[in-house]
Amino acid sequence: MAARLLDWYHSLSISARTAWSLAAGFTLVIVCAALIAFNDEHANAIDESLARLDQRNDKIVEELGKRFDRIATTQTRAIDLFRAERAMLTPAEARREFEALYPLQPDGTRRSRDAMFDGGRTAIGYTQGMAAFIPAGIARDDEAVRDVVAATHAIRALGEGSRFEIESLYFFTPANGIVIFAPARPDRLEYYRKTAPAGFAFQDREFATISTTTANPARQMMCTGLQSLISLKDREIWTTGCMTPVDREGRHIGTFGTSMPLDQVVPAGHFSGPANDEVILVSREGRLIYHPEYTRQHSRETGTYLDITTSTKPELAALWALVRKHGSAGFTGKADGLGAYVSLQDVPGAGWYALTVKPERLILAEALRPIPRIAAIAVIALIVCILAVTFVLRSLVGKPLRDLTYDAQRITRELANDAILALPEREKGGNEVTRLVRWFETMASAIRQSHALLEDRVAERTSALNAANAKLKMLSEIDPLTGIANRRKILADLDTRLPRLRPGSAMAVLVIDIDNFKAINDRYGHVAGDDALRVLTERMQGLLRAGDALGRMGGEEFLIILDRARPAIADTIAERIRAAIARQTFAVHGNLELQITVSIGVANWHAGDDAKALYARADNALYQAKTLGRNCVVTSRYTPGIDRSAA
Ligand code: GH3
Ligand code: MG
Ligand code: MG
Repeated sequence: MAARLLDWYHSLSISARTAWSLAAGFTLVIVCAALIAFNDEHANAIDESLARLDQRNDKIVEELGKRFDRIATTQTRAIDLFRAERAMLTPAEARREFEALYPLQPDGTRRSRDAMFDGGRTAIGYTQGMAAFIPAGIARDDEAVRDVVAATHAIRALGEGSRFEIESLYFFTPANGIVIFAPARPDRLEYYRKTAPAGFAFQDREFATISTTTANPARQMMCTGLQSLISLKDREIWTTGCMTPVDREGRHIGTFGTSMPLDQVVPAGHFSGPANDEVILVSREGRLIYHPEYTRQHSRETGTYLDITTSTKPELAALWALVRKHGSAGFTGKADGLGAYVSLQDVPGAGWYALTVKPERLILAEALRPIPRIAAIAVIALIVCILAVTFVLRSLVGKPLRDLTYDAQRITRELANDAILALPEREKGGNEVTRLVRWFETMASAIRQSHALLEDRVAERTSALNAANAKLKMLSEIDPLTGIANRRKILADLDTRLPRLRPGSAMAVLVIDIDNFKAINDRYGHVAGDDALRVLTERMQGLLRAGDALGRMGGEEFLIILDRARPAIADTIAERIRAAIARQTFAVHGNLELQITVSIGVANWHAGDDAKALYARADNALYQAKTLGRNCVVTSRYTPGIDRSAA
């Protein structure tokens, strides 16, 4: 796979290869940039989220704090009012009002008149939204009666005054008597007014137990976890209640309480922010007060999640672990068990903790948000870059290289004979440079071959020229008619021999001329004359010794060099030649037999002679031979300084 990739890469053109390399590098850079951006964004998103969580949690805690503050203030005021009313009430007055407000029922209990809830005139003036359930035992106790009546006064005044701020205000005693102001209850408080059984007792309920001296030694307001309202049996209404106990002379005589339905603890839309944060409220004792997933008003199932201290739901167990660990000091950061970032704070006055939570995956999603944008920009930049590089490289490198390759191809084809040279295939593979290199190598070998061919041809021509020159030289030295040395050659021969001669050396020169040759030509024709010249030559050649030389001086005159011939020998040879010619006829053209004679002049070499002098003497002797009647030999007698002398 890697090898194939490498092959593919090497087969690319330079521009494509650069573009691909760039793309790979660029992608790496983009991935790194994206990673860095993601890291930064992730850290930012965490920081921002934590800051926002803290901010939102602060607001929630502040809001809840204010609400609890109002409840606590109302209840404190109710207690003050209760004490003041009680102090002013005489037992008789208390009894009279008690009888008027709470008539005895057939079951022995006392319950409030309908007018108290419906709104109407009562013994203590106009009253509305109130109800009471008073078990039989209380009526027998004057102190308890005074407590109930004083509490009724206080609740009527404060309940009416704060009906738009709190859902209810009630007072209940350890003897299960209860006076309540809750005008908006859907059941119109009929449970207390009518249906509660005579033995109705609630001391075991949390709102009662948290008011005992043991449970609440500070005697300050405490709030319960979520409770289903007692009064409604057919339908769950989840509320939390805040209770402030009232003591007299160290004895717990009753409790002022206010309920807060779940949908008022968390008014709709109040806690749901734009940043997908969730708000969770948990009591110090590990009761779920509010959780967007688990607490639902009017749902019986809500009850199964309320105790998170023993919850089998991992999320709720983790929540409890977190609250237990950080509850007192507060916490801002990542809660591993929840898979979320959390801001946790104590809600003053309630014994609750407020948590604002943001799931980790949302923060991750925020961190990932810029990545597609970066990627898109990067891809566009990459494409532009690759196009630009490809274009520039194609025009600056690719095209010139292709042109060079084309030139190399053209030169190679012009030089090379296809049969001799194996031309590279017209393949597409390889890049411009490798193709160019391949064609240059081919071109170089074509040039080498062409060069060798040229050298062969030059050698051939040179040898032909040499042959021609040799032939020319021969032609310039040979007499064409007789085939012997011509005048130039024989005189040059003489010139070469003379310097080698030393005093005492011998050499002779004969000049031979045919007698009356003009007449022969005239009589028998030139063709016969030419034949006679050839025969004469052959005959003379046959008489010469090795080392002698014969040449034609022109016309019918010949010159013979007799090598190392002393005068006597020279004369003898001259005479032998003359005789040999005269003795035998010459067979020539036209079946003719000619009688030919020659005259011969002989000159013997003497020290100091040059060719000219020698020849002149021989010629002079020939002249004398002609004068003496022809067909004879005359030897020149040597007289230094005198050329024309005869024997
Ligand atoms: P002499 O005895 O005084 O030498 O008389 P000659 O006729 O030989 O001398 P001359 O100089 O008057 O004539 C020479 C002749 O030689 C003239 C010419 O016709 C002849 N001749 C010269 N060259 C050639 C040749 O190549 N071929 C033929 N056929 N004749 C030639
Ligand atoms: Mg002559
Ligand atoms: Mg002659």
